[in-house]
Amino acid sequence: MRREMDGGKEESAARVDYLRISLTDRCNLRCIYCMPNDGVKSFSREEVMRYEEFAQFVESCASLGISKVRITGGEPLVRKGIVDFIRMLASVELPLQISMTTNGTLLGDLAEDLRDAGLKRVNISIDSLEEEKYRTMTRGGNLADALRGLEAAIRVGFSPIKVNTVVLRGVNDDPSLLARLTFEMPVHVRFIEYMPYFSQRGKWFVSNDETKKRLERIGRLEEAESPAGSGPANYFKFPGAMGTIGFISPVSSHFCRSCNRLRISSDGKLRTCLFERDGIDVKRIIRGGASARDIRSVVSSALERKRREGGSKPRDGVIPAEWNHMSRIGG
Ligand code: SAM
Ligand code: SF4
Repeated sequence: MRREMDGGKEESAARVDYLRISLTDRCNLRCIYCMPNDGVKSFSREEVMRYEEFAQFVESCASLGISKVRITGGEPLVRKGIVDFIRMLASVELPLQISMTTNGTLLGDLAEDLRDAGLKRVNISIDSLEEEKYRTMTRGGNLADALRGLEAAIRVGFSPIKVNTVVLRGVNDDPSLLARLTFEMPVHVRFIEYMPYFSQRGKWFVSNDETKKRLERIGRLEEAESPAGSGPANYFKFPGAMGTIGFISPVSSHFCRSCNRLRISSDGKLRTCLFERDGIDVKRIIRGGASARDIRSVVSSALERKRREGGSKPRDGVIPAEWNHMSRIGG
């Protein structure tokens, strides 16, 4: 299947095999790039999809070729029963590769149980290794908690382990300390361009070209294999380092052509693009008594639309403030 890209050039669409589940819109942190100062009104209990409903949805997706499921949030580890949910996903008939994106602050106590339940990989968001900057970025978070989570992830053997960092000018724009982690630990540090809300692009945005140039002052960066198959990041490595450095550039590069993912939010909205505004109300369909076949048909049509139309990224890359916040969509 082909679709037209910017400039009129035709390009093959990536095969969609990846589903991101935003399990909850709640979070124990309030990062300045993700949530407004006074937070976001949470979904009610009734609005949120139950674990069994997510599992039913995942079963249908798996039979359509989705083989990778990433659990995200809000913060997935604040939702009660998370270990049992991972076990539920691991017992879906078709084998799934199950991963999680977390801020890591609650991972210290849960890592072992999550691994035993079937979780294989984690991405941990740590925006600075300097306590004060971490606290500013997360509006009050404690760096030691996140580092305890990272150490537990290494100890229990999650692999690969990626550290995600959103770079903001004037806040945490010195990437060198985090990059040096790749010499000390088997982790892959990924620098993510800030996707602007509220038109704050001018104030905080740092392109990954700029971040990469700063890192090249530490040492030569050689192109490297992705530690986990295809994805949005470009990887490099310092000679002799244990881990790689990744750059995820949703703003400055044309990311959409390689997008292989679907997203479902905690209130059950299925989106084929991070920038899609409303999504398909899967929860309503499931609660209306849909059969596995009905659900498959909804997902198939969404996949077909994604192949046909591609993404919905706004031209200036700025997400209108009245749309969903990242904490609801799951990044
Ligand atoms: N709470 C978990 C965490 O922080 O990893 C999972 C949810 S968070 C929404 C998922 C990812 O989205 C994180 O890596 C976070 O850094 C990223 N993210 C949030 N807001 C962003 C923004 N405005 N621009 C770029 N990335 C963002
Ligand atoms: Fe919470 Fe993650 Fe958003 Fe930070 S980035 S506020 S940890 S959901």
